[in-house]
Amino acid sequence: MKLYNTLSRRLEELPTPPGQIRMYFCGPTVYQRAHIGNARPFALGMWLRAWLRHRGYDPTLVHNITDINDKIYDAAPGASAELAERAAQWYLEDTRDLGLGMPDALPKATEAVISIVAFIEKLVDGGNAYEAGGDVYFSVSTDPGYGRLSRQKVESMEPEEESTLKRAPQDFALWKATKPGEDTSWDSPWGKGRPGWHIECSVMAEDAFGPVFEIHGGGLDLVFPHHENELAQSLALGHDFARIWMHNGLLTRSGEKMSKSLGNDMTIRGVIDEWGREVALMLLLSGQWRKPLDFNQATLEQARAQLETFRNVFRSPSEPVGDWVDFESALDDDFNTPEALAVMHRWRDHELLRRALGIFGLESIADLEQAPAELAELAGMRRDARDAKDFAEADRLRDEIAAAGWEVRDVAEPPGFQLVRRP
Ligand SMILES: [Zn+2]
Repeated sequence: MKLYNTLSRRLEELPTPPGQIRMYFCGPTVYQRAHIGNARPFALGMWLRAWLRHRGYDPTLVHNITDINDKIYDAAPGASAELAERAAQWYLEDTRDLGLGMPDALPKATEAVISIVAFIEKLVDGGNAYEAGGDVYFSVSTDPGYGRLSRQKVESMEPEEESTLKRAPQDFALWKATKPGEDTSWDSPWGKGRPGWHIECSVMAEDAFGPVFEIHGGGLDLVFPHHENELAQSLALGHDFARIWMHNGLLTRSGEKMSKSLGNDMTIRGVIDEWGREVALMLLLSGQWRKPLDFNQATLEQARAQLETFRNVFRSPSEPVGDWVDFESALDDDFNTPEALAVMHRWRDHELLRRALGIFGLESIADLEQAPAELAELAGMRRDARDAKDFAEADRLRDEIAAAGWEVRDVAEPPGFQLVRRP
């Protein structure tokens, strides 16, 4: 199987199975309901894990939660820890509702501070980092290969933040002394403070896997500075780090970058509630993971139409039409999911199609079973509660239906709902 590696800028062959494939995919900074853009690396990691398992590997996926960050302090002055805790819970709920299962581990930065301090101490002892006014900075000039991942020259790099304490503008913070207004801090040899963002991931990846592992993933916007700095820190300790760097393309909204500041963002929760998890997943599958993907009304509707096309196959008699090998070659070629979908659209064999949909967590669309009448009645009451903006009651009804083994999904066109048996 081949995957594109940002570090080498080419496709690289994975070792032949069996064998471990250890994957670390960067997760969100938790301070609000997660953006749909966060669903892309999550789903990619989960699908890749399912596919690697199918191919005979022993894959592990670690997906971190950044719960120490400036954005969290800014979003909840005086109560940042509570917000981070709540938003981490939202993220777990929202990603769980995508129905793909969960990563093998979801470490939080707050749980790794002791290892982080020990890692920074090693960098200081080795001369790669220095203390200044209670902060600790990584000295970029000690790494002759710095810029290897983002292919930039140090002189032309945009400094991440200004500080008179730094020896060089591109040096970056490993440890930040506590500032007024920050309500969480940890002890360290340099005084009270908290870790910088990049060091958190180097340490959580190493805690999970040891220094060397097969795949590091994350959004394209993380190449620089986040991953460039992770790599520099880890290499400075004298060992290799991730072998393959996978960077997924970003989601756009009608061609524009989706962002909170532009007011055109969508949350995972909002998309699942409005369109259902299957539509969200089908849309994510329809784009090659390295390319940008537009998430808007029209593309969501196309995804729903694709699902309907697959459902129609199950509504017709099964015919022995289709070849698993074509599906396999599409995914083995840089995990080309749009090509895999094109292959699946040619199939008429129910068993084959169900198996392929199962890899993507979409086996449920093969399931056309009717829900019992009393559950349909509860779902109707839930719809009424939502229309009346009584979301607590709507959630309670949803949970009651879920406890009976069914999932209620809202349908926008025509307005209504579907009841689907939970996988
Ligand atoms: Zn990270």
